[in-house]
Amino acid sequence: MTCLAFVRPGDLGIRRRSVLAASLAALTPTVRAQPRTAGPLAVLATTGMIGDLVREIGGERVRVDVLMGAGVDPHLYRATREDVAKMLRADVIFYNGLLLEGKLTDAFVRVARAGRPVYAVTELLPEETLIQPDGASGHFDPHVWMDPRAWSRAAELIAATLARHDPDGAAVFERNLRVLLARIAALDAYAEQVLATIPARQRVLVTAHDAFNYFARRYGIEVQGIQGLSTESEAGLRRLQELVELLIERRIPAVFVETSVPDRNVLALVEGAAARGHRVAVGGALFSDAMGAPGTYEATYVGMMDHNVTTIARALGGTAPERGFQNRLGTRR
Ligand code: ZN
Repeated sequence: MTCLAFVRPGDLGIRRRSVLAASLAALTPTVRAQPRTAGPLAVLATTGMIGDLVREIGGERVRVDVLMGAGVDPHLYRATREDVAKMLRADVIFYNGLLLEGKLTDAFVRVARAGRPVYAVTELLPEETLIQPDGASGHFDPHVWMDPRAWSRAAELIAATLARHDPDGAAVFERNLRVLLARIAALDAYAEQVLATIPARQRVLVTAHDAFNYFARRYGIEVQGIQGLSTESEAGLRRLQELVELLIERRIPAVFVETSVPDRNVLALVEGAAARGHRVAVGGALFSDAMGAPGTYEATYVGMMDHNVTTIARALGGTAPERGFQNRLGTRR
């Protein structure tokens, strides 16, 4: 199936998951809003994970602006006046959706009303790709990029959408997409291989918030976030105690902080376990909802995932090369 066949034109307006996306779909023109002037397509992406896909697929035919940089938490991010101005200047806007950017709702509606095409990449994916966790009151988990196979479907959607807005670029997008999908598939195969080396008893990933459910589904690892699906909900003392028990019982060697979430809860777990005589290490800082510093390998989707996979495998007693699957961790791009 080619990427262009994957998304039939009508699908973009139908397969939506939220009231917001449905209302944006109604506002988003089915044909291009305005004829584009010459030059690259101006694309605005909310997160680095989306922006990187657009950059890889679009190549020189797009100019990508990313709203949220390294270390920024999308659950809490509020749009500034300048952000809205940037969205209004963009030819196409991609956001994650499924309430990841919960505080940007008003901005998206305003921008869509002004005639800008706004697409929620995860909400356009087939429902079987998505996870609906217990206790999430019917909401889907927005952290889809944590499963490279699912994120590859998002890449296909992005390629198809770019081709709708720049039909002359369709062949280029298709070619770039194939290269990107092959790289993501290689990363996925590496992840499968090294994560399988973690001893069964220790296959538990304890992190700051519930960002790793898709990772868990793909690689058969149990995940326990201290905070829930969004960092908006504070962790209770009871949740911390539960997790200390789990660390002791399963003799889990490491827990992980996240670059876009304060580390106080994770450190409280380490202290709680230490007080009970179980030494737990901080296994490293994972890129959950944001990528690495600009210009580094970790500021690419493949690089951030390589970092996560390698860090997790090594800290939980598995075997993985120190510098990841391409020997590029810790290098500049
Ligand atoms: Zn999150």
